[in-house]
Amino acid sequence: MEHKKIILFGGTFDPPHNGHMTLLSGAIETVQPDLVIVEPAGTPPHKRAGETAARHRAAMCECFCPLCGHLIIDDTEIRRAGKSYTVDTVRAMNERYPGAQLYFPMGSDMLLWFRNWVGYKELLRRLVIVAHVRAGEDEAPMRAFADTLRAEGGSVLFVKAAVLPLSSTEVRSKIACGEPIDALVPPSVADYIAAHGLYRQQGGAAKDKTP
Ligand code: ATP
Repeated sequence: MEHKKIILFGGTFDPPHNGHMTLLSGAIETVQPDLVIVEPAGTPPHKRAGETAARHRAAMCECFCPLCGHLIIDDTEIRRAGKSYTVDTVRAMNERYPGAQLYFPMGSDMLLWFRNWVGYKELLRRLVIVAHVRAGEDEAPMRAFADTLRAEGGSVLFVKAAVLPLSSTEVRSKIACGEPIDALVPPSVADYIAAHGLYRQQGGAAKDKTP
């Protein structure tokens, strides 16, 4: 089966939160994809390694399913040994879905960091970036930065959606402090975190003590 427009939504998702939901739903509205692939990271190159329980993060990503009828949670990065680079995943998706155009949603923090990604020039050829600006940040520098990527042959779209000033780090530290998170994450994520007792230790990612 060939898909014309595919959103590849990569992230650590430790845990997924309403900011991710807003970004992805805005990207879906803008792109009108044939398929959405949610790709939880294995060991992200720019974050500390080791403690994150991939199976919990992947399970919590089920919260994205209601956003699109054609959505899968893929485990390519989770199964990959060692460091996980987006460019490897994108190559794999291009092989798996020949002829499809990949769209990659990202927050402004990721956009400004993009030239530091391994293989960013290849990514510019293989992906359309779907960029979102976080609240409180000035949109003009993002648009100017996007123009410099376009000058290198890249394609950048902007998502027109409200942006919540929210991060997984904030969700984890609220849980560690015993504060409620119901306003920050979808109900299914809050239920999963409570059921599995995740993030109760300060600074703790989703630890997986089960074999
Ligand atoms: P952490 O706090 O652990 O660094 P995070 O909240 O930034 O995590 P990631 O899983 O690293 O979440 O992010 C996945 C993608 O979602 C990235 O492209 C990131 O820029 C984007 N993103 C994260 N938070 C938001 C938000 N509040 N609004 C829009 N996009 C976001």
